[in-house]
This record gives sequence, structure tokens and C-alpha cells, in this order.
Amino acid sequence: MPIHEHSLIRPENLKTHEKLVIDGVDVSGHWSTFIEPRVVTDYNERLQEEIAALPGGEHIHRCWQCGSCTNACTVNAVNPDFNPRYWIYLIRMGMEAELLRDKDIIWQCVSCNKCTYACPRDVFPEGVMKATAHWLELKGHAPKSSSTHFDEEFTEQVIATGKIEEGRIVRGFFGRTGQPLRQPWLIEMARRLARKLPVRLGLLMGLAAVIRPRTRGWGRARRALEEYVHEQQAQRRRALGLERPVQPAEAPPGAGARAP
Ligand code: SF4
Ligand code: SF4
Repeated sequence: MPIHEHSLIRPENLKTHEKLVIDGVDVSGHWSTFIEPRVVTDYNERLQEEIAALPGGEHIHRCWQCGSCTNACTVNAVNPDFNPRYWIYLIRMGMEAELLRDKDIIWQCVSCNKCTYACPRDVFPEGVMKATAHWLELKGHAPKSSSTHFDEEFTEQVIATGKIEEGRIVRGFFGRTGQPLRQPWLIEMARRLARKLPVRLGLLMGLAAVIRPRTRGWGRARRALEEYVHEQQAQRRRALGLERPVQPAEAPPGAGARAP
């Protein structure tokens, strides 16, 4: 009988006897495959609460493990180790150490939301994936992803001026992720854009790159937003028991190449 979700079983836990006869029945090879039991002792009983305290993770408790999310998942189709149903299970059980074994692939969610549409319980698995990736960063288990760098750059610009200016966001994002601005694909994109863009729009964009556009009378809105963001961050840190700063994980070489 095939083992379902074979990828979830660690290779070291799979045992097969090349030659085995039991009560005169030859069960050599595939027929003698068994899975070694494991003992889990280090539960984090607050893990589900911690994920639920982060944006996107609020409905994780509704999951009934039907597997529709994994079945529909874009990334799972190319990498069977990417398994939202399994991670939700681990989080609900509090199996933090087991979850951390997959910390280097959880960020790979491409936010296509196919899982969200497939989920019969409105868990919003895409949100849970985001919350889990964010949790890994906040706890210092994973370096800040490019996606987080992009979100921060975007948010800071909106709060500062009430407007976004695409060129500034791209420059800021590249600066934060240590990428050079002169990249062939970017130069080509700018060249094609310049060819098609109406002159007036091109001039306005050039002007916006020099003089930062601002929303008039933005001061009060900015202060209210800053206060709100500060409150939310403090609330999340409390929920995760992170009153003291956490040492962030080192970014692996080439981490800047992650898609935002
Ligand atoms: S949003 Fe993420 S988890 Fe959901 S189907 Fe797409 S890649 Fe998979
Ligand atoms: S589809 Fe929804 S209910 Fe089913 S396993 Fe995924 S998150 Fe849980």
C-alpha cells in the first residue's frame, strides 16, 4: 500500500529490510517498510495563539485537516515538501521544533490564494502562511525576507508622505536587500517604458523622483498611522513574548534574490 504524503516522513525514520521472512512469508524489500515511531516532548502550547495573533493567522483554529489547501497549492505542485495542511497541523499541535525543520521553505508561498478558495472552513491558509513566515522572522528563526523588506519600504513611504512613488520604492527596496540598481532587466524595462510613455507623464515621473510628492495636510494622518502601527507592533510582540529584542537570523547567501 502506498504511504500517503510520503514526503512528510523523514528518510531516517523509514526502515526497510532487504531480506526478511516472517512466519515463512517473504516480506523482503518494499513489503517490510515500516516507520519508526518518534517521541515529541518539547511542545509549545502557545504556538497556535502566537500565529493567530499575527495578521492572516486569526482563523487557524477552524482547520479540520481536509488537505484541500495542499491539494490546490501552486508551490506544492512543484515541491511536495511545501505543505500548508501539515504546517497548520504542527502549529495547532504546538510542535514548534518540527515546524522549524521547514523554516527555509515556508516563505516560498507565492500568495496565489488558490488554497484560500479551496478551503471549506475559511481558514485563509494563505494568511496563515504569511503569519507563519512573519512569526519565524520575529522569533529570529529566519532572516527578514525580501517580501518583508518590500512591505516595510512601502509602508514607510505611505506613512511619511501619504503617497507612493514607484521609482523611490524600487530604489529603497534594492538598497535594503543589497541589490545593485543597475540590473540588465531593470535597465531594459526603463528603456521600454521611456519609449512608450507620453512625454508629459515622463516629465512628471522624473520630477517626482527629484521632489518627493506629498499629500497636502498629511501631518495628522501620519501621526495617527504611526501611533496605530506602533500599537500593533507592541501588541504582537507581547503576544509572542518578545518584550526583549531578538537577534535576527543571518540571511543565507543569495537571499536578496527572493521574490518580493
Ligand atoms: S497562497 Fe501560498 S499556500 Fe496558498 S496555494 Fe498559493 S502558494 Fe500555496
Ligand atoms: S483546506 Fe482549510 S480546512 Fe482543509 S486542511 Fe487546508 S486550511 Fe485546513
